[in-house]
Amino acid sequence: MHIIGCPSAVSGAFDLAVVGAGIIGLSCARAAALKGLRVVVIDRDSQSSGASVRNFGFVTVTGQERGAAWTRARRSCAIWEEVAQQAGIPILQRGLWLTARRPEAVAILESFLKTEMGEGCELLSRAAARARCPELVNEQVQAVLSSSIDLRVESREAIPKIAAWLAERWGVQFLRQTAVLSVAPPLLETSRGVVRAGAVVVCPGDDVYSLYPKRIARYEVTRCKLQMLRLADPGFRLPSTVMSDLSLLRYAGYSALAEAAPLRARLEAEQGEHLEHGIHLIVVQSADGSLIVGDSHDYAATQDCFAQEHIDELILGEFAAATGRSAPAVRERWMGTYAAAPDRTMFIDAPARDVRIVMITSGSGASTGFAIGEEVVTDLFGGVQVGGVQVGGVQVGGVQANGNTRSLRSGHL
Ligand SMILES: Cc1cc2nc3c(=O)[nH]c(=O)nc-3n(C[C@H](O)[C@H](O)[C@H](O)COP(=O)(O)OP(=O)(O)OC[C@H]3O[C@@H](n4cnc5c(N)ncnc54)[C@H](O)[C@@H]3O)c2cc1C
Repeated sequence: MHIIGCPSAVSGAFDLAVVGAGIIGLSCARAAALKGLRVVVIDRDSQSSGASVRNFGFVTVTGQERGAAWTRARRSCAIWEEVAQQAGIPILQRGLWLTARRPEAVAILESFLKTEMGEGCELLSRAAARARCPELVNEQVQAVLSSSIDLRVESREAIPKIAAWLAERWGVQFLRQTAVLSVAPPLLETSRGVVRAGAVVVCPGDDVYSLYPKRIARYEVTRCKLQMLRLADPGFRLPSTVMSDLSLLRYAGYSALAEAAPLRARLEAEQGEHLEHGIHLIVVQSADGSLIVGDSHDYAATQDCFAQEHIDELILGEFAAATGRSAPAVRERWMGTYAAAPDRTMFIDAPARDVRIVMITSGSGASTGFAIGEEVVTDLFGGVQVGGVQVGGVQVGGVQANGNTRSLRSGHL
């Protein structure tokens, strides 16, 4: 790479430049590096601070939308196992514990278990659930969906570890505090000069304006804001990540089932305010016993930066209702945003033969990203191990790509 004004940052020309060092950018970088490609990841921030480190770290299979999303989550979960082991990332929890308090919720779970998405899941009676975790099962609980296939990592630690592993084990180069201003392979203009790469994957998170705004606008992308809390250690270990009735309306794997209609009607009558703010319950537990609890969903093109106490109270109210316990003290609060589209969970857009834009337009990037990274890299480069060989749509082992090379003046495209 040729970085004008920053000669010591990185060197050489790359097969692939990835814009964005969130989980999606890292997933694309991993898939490319494993094929032997020379990869650079460019991010404007000095450390990850986007959705990928603000989330629950819940690698969710159970409840993902039927079809491609569920299949991607299955694959991603398997890759997380491998990466976690190699990068020294502890898997802090396994599975899901979805507490059903209403018969309408139990009906959805019974139907869900009859589908292929019920793999690795079982429905526990109140007594069976109480035997496994007495602290979480009160008289309100009708049944519990218990899954064994989901994972949970501590994202704020896992994301830097994945980046370090990619750099040390696979030779991926990272260029941080560097904004990508324009993309036209084999050249990328950045805030620190020009980077040369044969292909580019743009993984901008919820930044819909900086690169390819017109292409992204075609997907009607808006932004979703979530409020999150960390609570003190409740004094016992959760069996798995915990969810409740409200979650059955937020995850398409359940909500698309015919049995969801009666629960929706009942929740509209009983918990209308929760639905209005897009609140449902996810509770995960960290190594020190503390709990991450959320969340709410508010949609707007530009989100305000103000957290509403009332929303936190509603989340904590659902925690108490689902667990039968009052919420421990709040230790931390934060907000996160992710890209959202009305009709799809993600998209891969091809503005040029050697460029892809990858945007996760639902709250599922930690769950599906590794599989999506593989798809993107296979789409660009094919499935063949490389070494100067023409594979897929982009020539590797050099920077000449697709005949659309542009002339470059110093540091300016
Ligand atoms: C509060 C919260 C909870 C969530 N919980 C979960 C969960 O438990 N499980 C799950 O699967 N999903 C969850 N999600 C969704 C998941 O976190 C996202 O889908 C995922 O992190 C998106 O990853 P990303 O890499 O696309 O975006 P990001 O993590 O936002 O990364 C994008 C990166 O691109 C960089 N960038 C953008 N434009 C440029 C540019 N022009 N030049 C240089 N750098 C640029 C940014 O600096 C940023 O670092 C949650 C999201 C939130 C907000």
